[in-house]
This record gives sequence, C-alpha cells and structure tokens, in this order.
Amino acid sequence: MGRRRIVTRAYAKLNLNLRVLGRRADGLHELRTIYQSIELADCLTVTVRPGPFELRCSDPAVPVDRRNLAWAAVVRASRAVGRGTPRDLSVFIDKRIPVEAGLGGGSADAAAMLHALTRLWPGELSASVCRRIASRIGSDVPFFLVGGTVLGLGAGDELFPLVDLPTHWAVVLIPTFGVPTASAYGWFDLAPRRVRPVLSREPLAVRAGALSLVGKLVNDLEPAVTAKYPEVRRMKAALRRAGADHPSMSGSGSCVFGLFSRRRDATAAAAVLRRQAWRVVVARTLSREDIISRESGCPRGAG
Ligand code: ATP
Repeated sequence: MGRRRIVTRAYAKLNLNLRVLGRRADGLHELRTIYQSIELADCLTVTVRPGPFELRCSDPAVPVDRRNLAWAAVVRASRAVGRGTPRDLSVFIDKRIPVEAGLGGGSADAAAMLHALTRLWPGELSASVCRRIASRIGSDVPFFLVGGTVLGLGAGDELFPLVDLPTHWAVVLIPTFGVPTASAYGWFDLAPRRVRPVLSREPLAVRAGALSLVGKLVNDLEPAVTAKYPEVRRMKAALRRAGADHPSMSGSGSCVFGLFSRRRDATAAAAVLRRQAWRVVVARTLSREDIISRESGCPRGAG
C-alpha cells in the first residue's frame, strides 16, 4: 500500500449572531445564526498506512476515541462507501482551537476529516453523502464543509451562503473555563427571559457588509451563560474598553470576541487585553475562497 499524506486545516467559526427561536419536538433548538469562518485553525494530518485506524491529538484533554468527532466522521464515511470498519489510516490533530469555547473546534475537525477523505478516496465520497454525514455528526458540522459567511437556519444545518463579510480582524478572549454546548442550551431553556424580536433584516446587514448593524446582532444564549459565568460580562466590558464596538459571545461560549475593520486596531486592543488573565487571539475573518485554498496545507505555526 502506497503511503499518502494529506494535511488540511480545520478553521474555527464565530457566530456573528445567534437567535434561538424555540425548542423543537426532536429536542434540538430552532436557530437563526450567522456563521463566520476565522483563520484560527486546527491542523489535521491524515496518513494512509497499513494497520488499525489510529487518531492522536496534541491536546491531552481531547478524547482520541469514538467520542472524537473526526473519528465519528471516519466511521460514518467508511461505512457509507462500503469500506467497513476504518483501518489503514492514521490521523493527527494539531489542536489550536480552544475546546468548549464556542468556536466549533470538534465540528471543524469532523468536516476537515471528511474533506481529507474525499481527496484520499476520489470518486467514492460524494458531496451529498458528505453533507448527510456531517449533519448527523452535529448541527454545525455542515457549515464547516462550506465556510465563509453563512446564514444557518433550522438546527443550524440549513445553510444559505451570504456575500462574504469584508475582511475584519476578530479579537477573541478565551477564559480558563469552557462551556459544554448542551449545558448552555439547558440553562437557556430554564432561564426566565424577555423575548427579543428577530430582526428580519439581520442577514441583509451582513449581505451588505454593513457592520454598523452588528450592534443589532445578539446572542440569545449569552444571558443564560453570563448568569452562570459573570466573567463573560467582564470580558465584554474589557473588549469594549479596548475599542471593540459590539463585543459578543460566540455560540454557546465561553469565548467573547470583538470585530475590528483595521488590523492595527485589533492588534492594539489585543496588546492591552493581554495584560489580563485571558488568552487573547487575533484572527482574520475568512471568505469562502480562503477556505477553498486550505488545500495548500498547514505551514508551521499556522493558526
Ligand atoms: P460549539 O461552538 O459547537 O458550541 P465548542 O467549541 O463549544 O463547540 P468543541 O471545542 O467543539 O466545543 O468541543 C466540545 C466537546 O467535544 C469537548 O468537550 C470534547 O470532549 C469533544 N470533542 C470531540 N471531538 C473533538 C475534537 N476533535 N476537538 C475538540 N473537542 C472534541
């Protein structure tokens, strides 16, 4: 068996907006969200070599068994193309995306794994089969097959690509605690809340690249997560003081981000924020085209 190696990036996302419209009969929540890819990325190296399937990860906190979403992707893809139980593959995940931060790291890895397998098994794994596998692994996994600026409806898996946001720089604050996604939705379901109207023009705001309207974008999970972790409020206040107009929590937390249209403003804000206890990452927003070019692999130090 020839030895082949594919190196690919799994880019993180931010939720520029996350409206929770209700709870569905299947237990999932009906969402209206705008996903945005950013250049912070895990790096997956997939090697074809004889022997049992193996997965390793640079972060010891991440499971390296069936619970890993990249592993789940391989199992489902092997079965779908009639290859049976996975074997003859070794996967290494160089973890750069913080875990349980609302940046979708596990889901991004699953999608990147599917992307790698389509290249390793040409003609076997169609785009539609990949999409089906992705949505079974998790509601946000299909987004990571697309990337860029995308409206997500349904459970977040019905995707409508938008005109890409003009390049911005996100300053992302990552606290020491993580928030499991299921917990955040559980707290949301239990929390008394004021119903905020869904603005019908939200996606249009991004379509027009009109980030001035980001002020009207909200994350409905934020109050419930903040009630458990008041530090989220402190992170937002610190970002605001550092010059971010409308900082927001991403996904189910725990990270909080602010967007800057000029790189030097983002870098200056990050320098101020690094004096505090949070991990600070500056990451450029990525367009769909940027995502396609991930074929070029992972230079040392990427992400
Ligand atoms: P979301 O933005 O969708 O809410 P998240 O960023 O909060 O996601 P992840 O970092 O994707 O959450 O991971 C959540 C859990 O998934 C972790 O507790 C981890 O045990 C598990 N997990 C499974 N596979 C992976 C993976 N490849 N990378 C990171 N975590 C993984």
